[in-house]
Amino acid sequence: MSDGRNERPDTLVRRAALREGVSRPVVTPIQPSVVYASPSIATLHAQYEGEAHGYTYAREGHPNAELLARKIDGMEGAENGLILGSGMAAVTAAIMGLLGQGDHIVGGNQLYGRSLRLMHQDLARFGIATSLADPSDVAAMEAAIRPETKMILVEVISNPTLRVADMAGIVALARDKGVMLAVDNTFTTPFAYRPLEEGADIVIHSVTKLLAGHSDVTLGYVAARDPARMRAIYDFAVTVGMTPAPQECWLAERGLYTFPLRFQQAQENAAALADWLSDHPKVGRVLYPGRADHPDHALAARLVGANFGNMVSFELADATEAAADRLVQGAPDLPFAPTLGDVGTTLSHPASSSHRGLSAEGRAALGISDGMFRVSVGIEDIGLLKRDFAAGLDAV
Ligand SMILES: *Cc1c(COP(=O)(O)O)cnc(C)c1O
Repeated sequence: MSDGRNERPDTLVRRAALREGVSRPVVTPIQPSVVYASPSIATLHAQYEGEAHGYTYAREGHPNAELLARKIDGMEGAENGLILGSGMAAVTAAIMGLLGQGDHIVGGNQLYGRSLRLMHQDLARFGIATSLADPSDVAAMEAAIRPETKMILVEVISNPTLRVADMAGIVALARDKGVMLAVDNTFTTPFAYRPLEEGADIVIHSVTKLLAGHSDVTLGYVAARDPARMRAIYDFAVTVGMTPAPQECWLAERGLYTFPLRFQQAQENAAALADWLSDHPKVGRVLYPGRADHPDHALAARLVGANFGNMVSFELADATEAAADRLVQGAPDLPFAPTLGDVGTTLSHPASSSHRGLSAEGRAALGISDGMFRVSVGIEDIGLLKRDFAAGLDAV
């Protein structure tokens, strides 16, 4: 021990360090360091050339993001995925890292609202054009393809009508036309469907939703099967600064350990709630891909087996906004919030939230009325859920 009497206090603070121990923490440490010191210039060269593993600057990568990415890679059958600051950052990086002026995307016509806005408003300003088509209809997707089409972007199960994309047909179409296929797998999750293993080129997640699962982090994930494409996505994302925070990655990692349990419980609840709702006299129509009366039930069963997911939509028999508002106010224990994938059930009203930007005709064309709700079913006791929904429906 050095005698500190002649040193300034700040020097003493810097000098004191933890001793190396022989034991290790069982929980991942949070590493907030923005910079990493290398022992020599030769080592730094080796790091940049990819010959030595080591971090340099957190925007380019840090341990908490890398560990989270490897864990999601494992579930998705990917090798080199990247964690970004949000699901929208992942969508944006996949498109802007790989496409340029004059290119064209064919998107599913019920993509996440911000993905649609990105394609129509923002990418259009940079000369990337978009056409939309119904992904449950491969002929419609094919008809939308142009000579300059570079990418197809679809979600496997759409929001809020829970239509199912004909993934086998779309994979074959993308191969046939030499177009990249990107799949936003947020709703389905790798528990039910693994896009890369089924022939897609890129997989995208809003980690914010089911994977993290507790509505307390905003993060995204993207992986490309081809390393050169992954490198292009990585370089774009790091250049524009889509970096996630270590603390958020740590929280998402913690959520991941219970993801399969949560998903299993939530989809069991969803199936039971869908059946219960369909028997209720104030409910007009229930949409759940696991039910035989869903228009895409057979397609869903081929695609996801018995994993029909945690999302249920339903329409009141009195399909008006006034009736819907009475349900919201009559069920104060069901958070009325436009998110999904939380451990707790949440209720959203697409006509006033995710789809408010569409005209009434536009909503009608997608089958979204003023009396439609989308439920993200959580892991609560199903008896409690039925009581909460009964209270809301009684108020209608
Ligand atoms: C929420 C969501 C996104 C966007 O993710 P953020 O983490 O909110 O940026 C993208 N796609 C789908 C299907 C989503 O549900």
